[in-house]
Parts: sequence; structure tokens; C-alpha cells
Amino acid sequence: MAWTREPTSVPKPRVGIYGFTGCAGDQLLIIHTEDEILNLFGSVNMQSFVMASSNPTEGPLDVAFVEGSISTEKEKEHLLDIRKRAKVLVAIGNCAVSGGPQAMYTGDDGYTKRLQKVYGDVKFITEPVEARPLDAYVTVDYYLPGCPIDAKQTFALISRLIHQAIPEPYPHPVCHECKLNENHCLLLDKKFCLGPITAGGCNSVCPNHGLPCVGCWGPNDDGNFSQHLKLLESFGMTKKDIIRRVKNYGGHKILKYIENL
Ligand code: SF4
Ligand code: SF4
Repeated sequence: MAWTREPTSVPKPRVGIYGFTGCAGDQLLIIHTEDEILNLFGSVNMQSFVMASSNPTEGPLDVAFVEGSISTEKEKEHLLDIRKRAKVLVAIGNCAVSGGPQAMYTGDDGYTKRLQKVYGDVKFITEPVEARPLDAYVTVDYYLPGCPIDAKQTFALISRLIHQAIPEPYPHPVCHECKLNENHCLLLDKKFCLGPITAGGCNSVCPNHGLPCVGCWGPNDDGNFSQHLKLLESFGMTKKDIIRRVKNYGGHKILKYIENL
């Protein structure tokens, strides 16, 4: 007699995938992983994923994945609502984690002037606010950086979360992966590589192709920022230009590492 498995009574986790201000590249990456996306939709009860389905529901969630920075009052309200409904909230992509390039100058007191210069007296449908990462407004349980996020790292985290396991921390800088990939170090050629101060997870994709890391995974908490700044200055760049470059993806969050250097 054939053995038949008892139907499980464990409900599938309720998941929502949301996007705020950004290029939507992280949601696109999830959709483009054609093998995993079918497994994902089969393993969870997808409540909301507007880019993939036009029928969202706004009930309780086990896990919410949120892309993009917060740039309007309406987005702020929606984020607060998602946070209230979700047991676990994950920031996905550089804009959600660090604010993205649009948060490069956040906190410098020039926002109102810039807004006026670009938009003049336009009447907005929803009131704009200075771009900030998600954790400026809500508690974020886990961070998945990247621009865009990496498929392998993303589905490893999703898989652990939907099985109620804690995601593994990823403390290594890009240089760690770069060494494992046996690349020639671009710093030896005096190229402006941010690998030592950037969070890993991309498998050092840029140095693998001879291109310096520009820091799109955001700052690595253990990076020796002062030493790296000194090294890059010795290559001929000014401190101001270096700081501008690292703020491009580090947003205003990078300031806590570099403002006193
Ligand atoms: S090339 Fe860049 S990422 Fe690779 S080891 Fe050198 S500094 Fe690190
Ligand atoms: S090497 Fe640096 S710039 Fe390139 S994808 Fe990785 S973190 Fe981003």
C-alpha cells in the first residue's frame, strides 16, 4: 500500500512585499529569479506583491519585505501601517537600508532649498519629506542590503524567515569575497576601491570584472574608515570628494563613521 503523507495543518506564512521610493530593482530581481519565484509563491501565502499581483490584501503579516526609502508623508503612513501588521519587517535594498542616493544629502539643512529649486511652486498630491531609510521611522528586524539585492543572499534569508529561523548575520566586507575569488587587489594600482569599508554579499561582482567597488551594499560596521580615508587621500583624491563618494550609497548613515575623521 502506498504511504500517503498526512496533510499538514501548519498554515503557510503570510508574506507581503512592498516598494517605496527607489527604482524597484529589488522587487524586479525577486520576480526575475524564475525558479525560486515559483517555490516562493508555493511556500507562502502572498498577501501583497503589487509588482507581481494586482490583488493585494492588507491583513496581518508574518513577514514584510520593504524596498525603497521614505520620501512622502503617504509613504510614511503606509510604512507605519505595515509595521503594525507585520511580526517581522525586513528592509531590502540600499534605499530601504541606508536611504539610497536620494538620501546622500539628508540632514544637511539644504532640503527645502533644493526642493524649491527643482519643483518651484508645484502643488504635490502627497507632501514630500526628506528621503530617509526605513529605520528612521520604524523598527527594522533584519537588513538585506544591495543595489540591487543579490538573489542567493535574498532567498537564503527568505527561506530562513519563512521557516521561523533567524537569518545568519553577514559581517564580512567585500574584500573577503574578493580574496576568495582570487582577484588582483585594485588598491595596489591606486584605484579608488571601497571594498574594505563596504558590507559584503554581492560576491565582489565589480572587482571580479576589474571595476572598483563603489559601496552599493552600504557601510560595513567593522570597517576601518579613518585608515581607508587616509589611504585613498594618498592616491590623490581630496577628503571632500572621498566623503561625497562614500555618501552616495551610505546616505546620511555613513556620517556616524566619517564625520569626525
Ligand atoms: S580590489 Fe577592492 S574589494 Fe578587492 S581586495 Fe582590493 S580593495 Fe578589497
Ligand atoms: S562590489 Fe561594491 S559596488 Fe559592486 S555590487 Fe558589490 S558592494 Fe556594490
